Order: sequence, then structure tokens, then C-alpha cells
Amino acid sequence: MSKIIATAAIRGAHRMVERAEEALAKAIEEKGKDAKAEYPNTAYYLPIMLLFLGQKVEKLGDLEESLQEARKLLGKVPTDEVWLPYLGETLDSGVATLIAEETIEALKFVDGANPAEGIWLSFTDDSILRMQGIKLVDGRMPGFAAVVGCAPTNQEAVQLVRGLQERNIPVFMAGHANGRAIAEQLAEERIDMNWDTFLVPYGKEITAAVHAANFAARAAMTFGGIEPKGLKEAREILLYNKERVYAFVLALGADSDAPEDQVITDEKYATAAGVINFGFPVISDVNIPEILPTGICQYEHVVANVNLSDIISRAIEVRGLTIKVEKLPIPVPYGAGFEGERVRKEDMYVQFGSKYTDAFELLKMKQMDEVTDGTIEVIGPEIDDMTEGEAYPLGIVVEVAGRNFQEDFESVAERRIHEYISCANGIFHMGQRAIVWARISKNAHEKGFKMKHLGEIIVAKMHSNFSAIIDRVQVKVYTDGDKIKPLLEEARGIYRERDDRISGMTDDDVDEFYSCTLCQSYAPNHVCIVTPQRLGLCGAYTWLDCKASHRIDPHGPNEPVAKGKCLDHTLGQWQKVNDYVAVKSNGNLMKFSAYSMLVDPMTSCGCFECVVGIVPEANGVMIVDRDHQGMTPVGMKFSTLAGQIGGGIQTPGFIGIGKLYISSPKFISAEGGTERIVWMPKALKEEVSDRVNARLRDIGKEDFYDKIATEDDAESPDQLVEFLTKVEHPALNMDPMM
Ligand code: SF4
Ligand code: ZN
Repeated sequence: MSKIIATAAIRGAHRMVERAEEALAKAIEEKGKDAKAEYPNTAYYLPIMLLFLGQKVEKLGDLEESLQEARKLLGKVPTDEVWLPYLGETLDSGVATLIAEETIEALKFVDGANPAEGIWLSFTDDSILRMQGIKLVDGRMPGFAAVVGCAPTNQEAVQLVRGLQERNIPVFMAGHANGRAIAEQLAEERIDMNWDTFLVPYGKEITAAVHAANFAARAAMTFGGIEPKGLKEAREILLYNKERVYAFVLALGADSDAPEDQVITDEKYATAAGVINFGFPVISDVNIPEILPTGICQYEHVVANVNLSDIISRAIEVRGLTIKVEKLPIPVPYGAGFEGERVRKEDMYVQFGSKYTDAFELLKMKQMDEVTDGTIEVIGPEIDDMTEGEAYPLGIVVEVAGRNFQEDFESVAERRIHEYISCANGIFHMGQRAIVWARISKNAHEKGFKMKHLGEIIVAKMHSNFSAIIDRVQVKVYTDGDKIKPLLEEARGIYRERDDRISGMTDDDVDEFYSCTLCQSYAPNHVCIVTPQRLGLCGAYTWLDCKASHRIDPHGPNEPVAKGKCLDHTLGQWQKVNDYVAVKSNGNLMKFSAYSMLVDPMTSCGCFECVVGIVPEANGVMIVDRDHQGMTPVGMKFSTLAGQIGGGIQTPGFIGIGKLYISSPKFISAEGGTERIVWMPKALKEEVSDRVNARLRDIGKEDFYDKIATEDDAESPDQLVEFLTKVEHPALNMDPMM
């Protein structure tokens, strides 16, 4: 362990704590001790304080205590006489640094101020944490990279983040080197930076790096179900991060204002010491002292002098990650990091669908001899025959054959087309079936992207993801409007048939449900039981998806679960399902009701689309989705609710659900079903209106939809009851829920 790094880190920690103390004193002088200290939309207070101190900071006054604790953690700056052979004091100083940085960053939010400015996004709230968390859960994100500083040139900056995006590794950016930040370099190169593109610029100051740490801390609390109370839990959370969140720090560029004999500033060392606590190693392209022996991190703690072009592979090695980069036969980079990327109108070469032209996608099962594997045909003009700025019709017909393929899997595989195409850099894709909208950027066109490459992507991805059920794939890409018209009609008929088949399927029709244990990597005791009428709570896995996934990978996260003897028809309990859940939840849940939120309800991992919660005053339930940031009639916002019910625990009265379940005939049918719904956010109500209204028509209750209150009608129980009484909501006269 190098003395210089200990000296620098401890010195940096002292300075950071001083800065935080000054900033806090100033804030208290201006606003008083009772002014709120909080980040927006989080149930985790100031996550770093909650993690390391078990402290629930709410007011500026509470921060005084946080900083006193930070002071206690500060090591003595080593002198020539004092030699620190171990990491202990340095690591503690790192914790003190993170507490100080959290203080400084949180103070920027005082009085509801929003420090997000220009390209800088600042704090990540819980709704994004949950949305992105599912990607960590299902492996779409192998970990994350926190980049501090800047690259020598803009081009190298772009190359570096493209390399990370291709490996599906999100990039968190904070701090600068000599006044220059990598995010600024990317902005100059017109690179889209936001959560959808996996590029997250937190802030130009090094203190903003704490947002990567508090994101990691909350990921452990949300998905690992670890409730922070003190040092013991802090250790668990840090271990959780070391073992499951494969993150690393890339410290780029030297600081000319660094102390003599040093290449980077004390504050950067101190911050590095902070994140090493999480097991995140630091890799640098400059000559900082290395800490090679292992201990806290999987392998080395700090690795220096790495060539920028090798830095990603070195980081992956040091972090102990195994990632394979997919090399598709296309001329643009490819990876989940490009999935959410948009192509702006001014950057667009050509577009397809939306309100401009017809566009559709259809995947059909064929006989083996009807499919020549790997054939791609473009029927109509290729991109070279198209005019810049114009819109063209598009029909993508994918024909597959496989000995284990079934017609039921068509829609499962077809739905993946969106994700496959969007992962190409410079190609924007939205929607599915006959509501497709796609754009090809000028940049992708310049690199040689052609219509036939859409086919290449689909062929390669279908083979790699569905190798167990698909043996042959051929793709026809139509751009000829006359040919598309009749095909579209045919496709519409097929979509209708499929919908009828699936929506007609009930839980009673099948002998087996499916399990999903994908989230166990984060919530070790959570099991989703997925039935035809109740999809997984993340909204991403229907019964058919699970069935297909089991066919594809029999040892994967989805298994058939036989129902066995029916124990209670109303609650939805079966002997063999209970037996299965008892084993898979590690004895945590002995009974499971498919249709009740009060009696033995399903557990929640953390990635639910919505929370259903009982509103006792209204004798009904409210449903809130994660996009709704306002208050709900149960007196808690989504983020608070989610914090309380997540982590694989069972909370009678509250369940996490997928949006599609809202319109299911089995929606909390044990408690009276759809008519118990008393409140939903307006946007959610609108989003599910088609399906809910169809359900209401089926039960002859067409007038019910308007009786569901929204935030415009009520945000408190009193207002809600008043509204419900006025509209004569049926829940008021139903059997008491409690
Ligand atoms: Fe997680 Fe359940 Fe979704 Fe599976 S179905 S990914 S266990 S939330
Ligand atoms: Zn989950």
C-alpha cells in the first residue's frame, strides 16, 4: 500500500469535509436548520448517509450530525514517521469523503432547487433506478463504469464510450481533468447523453461522483432487500455491490493543479478511496500509484498507466467480468447502450412508418423446407435509391423454422425485433406490429448501413437468442409500397387472430403456470408465479414468454409449475404451487395466492411496473405506476411505497404488478376485482383505458371507468371519499376489505 495514496486520500478527505462543513454552515445561516435536505423522488433519504450511518437525513440540521460522523472517520494525515501498511484509515477517509460529497450535492437541492443544468443530470431518482435496475437484474447491464476526467481527444472519448455501450455498460460521468470533462467532449461530438443511451453525465465537479455511489447503494437496498440500520448492514450492502454490481472507475487524465509528485488531485484520490469501499476498482490512463494486492476489490484496487485503447478490457479483467461483444455483420456499432438512442430529424437520412407511411413487422412460422437460412431479400428500393429526408414504407417479414418451434412463440420472437434493431447505433426504432416507426441516421448511412442490414441483425439475433427453438431464419425487407399494402392486410388478420387466442386463454385452461426467478440475483427470496391471466410484476414476462423461455433454456429462470390440487379457488391457491414457492423462496413464503393482495400475496422484488395499495377509508385500492411522482391517497409517493414493499418481502395490502394485470378478470378477484379500483394517476388510467374499458364491457359495467378518481379529483383519503360518494363508486358498498 502506497504511502502517497494514503496521504493524498486522507488529505483530500479532510479538505472535502471542510468544504462540506462550510457549505452547510452557509446553507443553515440562510435557510435555518429546519430547511429540508433531500433529493427528489427517493425513499432512501440521502442514500450515502443511510448506508454508512443508518441515518435518515431530512433537514439541514441533521447534516451537522452526518459531518460530525465523517470527521470521526478521518484518518490522520501520515507523516514520514507514520507508515500506514493497511487500507483501513484510507478507506474510512473515503467514506468520510462520500458523506461530505453527498452533503455538498444534496445542498444543491435545498428549497426545491434543481441543479440539473445543460448536459448535467445530477441525482438519479428512484423511478429511473427501478427502470434501469431490471437491466442489471436480467443481465442486460453487466455493471457500470464511472468515468472521472476526460480523454486526450474528443475522438478517443467517443471511442471509449462506444466501446462501453457496445458491452452494454452504462457510463456515469463526473469531475474533470484540467477543466475538461468527458461529457463535454461527447456533447461537442453531438452524442446523445441520457439514461436511455446508457450515458449519464452527473456533474462537472468531482463531488457529483457520489451519485454513482448512491445509485449503487440504492440498487442493493432496492433489489437486495437489505435495510440499512448501521455498520453491519452497511457491510452487507458493500459486499452486495462487490459481488453483484460489477462497477469500476476509470480515472482519465492528469490534473495540472495536483500537488507536487502527484498526477491527480487529493480530492480525486479521496473519492477513489470512497468507491473502493464498494469493491469498485479504479483504472487510470495516467501514472497514479497502484494498489495491487487484493482485499476489498475482487482483484486489484488501483491499476495505473493503462493505454486508453486497452482500458476497457483491462477494467473488465480487473473487475472479474465476462462479457462477450456481439460482432454483427453490419457497419455500425451494436449494443444495448444504443437501444434508447433517438435519431433527431436533422440527423436523419430516411424514415419509415409512424404517420408518414405504412410500416409493419411480422414473424411467421414456416416449414423447414420453406426457409433458406440466412437469406435476406430487399424487395423495393435499397437505401442508395432513396432520397435524403424522405419517408418510405417498410414491411419486415421474418420467416422462421425449427423443430421445436410452435405458433405460440411467433409473437414472443416477433416482439424482440424492436430491441434488436434499436441496438444498432444510428438506427431508431419504435413500436411493433403495424405501428412501427424507424429512422436511419445520416451517420449510419455514411458508414454504409443498408436496408439489408436490418435483415442481418434479425438473422444473427434470432439465432443467438432462440437457438433452441429456431433453426432457420430468412428475412424479407419490403420497401415497395404496392407490395406492402396487401401484406399489411394479411398481417393485421394474423395479429387479430393471435390476440383472440391469447386473450381467450384463462388460468383454468392450463395445468401449469410458470415461475420466474430472474430477479433472485437481486432479491434472493423472490419468485414470480406467472399465469395466463397474471403476468410477471415487471410487465415483461407473460405466461407465453415464460413458456417459450423455458423451451429455449430448460435450466433458465422459468420453470413450469404444476398446479396440483386446488386448495382455494377464490384466493387462487394450489398445493403444488405452494410447495414450489416454499422451496424457491428458501422457506420464506409457505403459501401463495394468485388472486389476493390481502391473504398470502405474492412478494415483490423491486421492478414492478405499478403498486396496488389498499385505501382503507375508501374500502378500495389505488394503483400507482412508477412514472407518477406526485402524492397518492395512501399518503406515500410511489418511491416511498416501492421502498417499503420491495426486496422480496410479502406485504399484505400491497402488491407489485405489471400494467396488463389491471384489466385481467383475475385482478385481485379475491377482493372483488376491478370494481375495487378507486384511484389511478391520470396518465396511467389513460394508458390502460382500452383494455380496462373492454373488460368493463364484458362485465356490463361500462360506466365504471369514469368513477375511478385521479390526482385531479383527489390526493388525500378525505378528498377521495368525497369524490367516490359523489360518483356513487361501487367500492363504498362492497364487503369491507379489512
Ligand atoms: Fe423479475 Fe418477476 Fe419479471 Fe421475472 S417476471 S424478471 S422474477 S419481476
Ligand atoms: Zn424484479
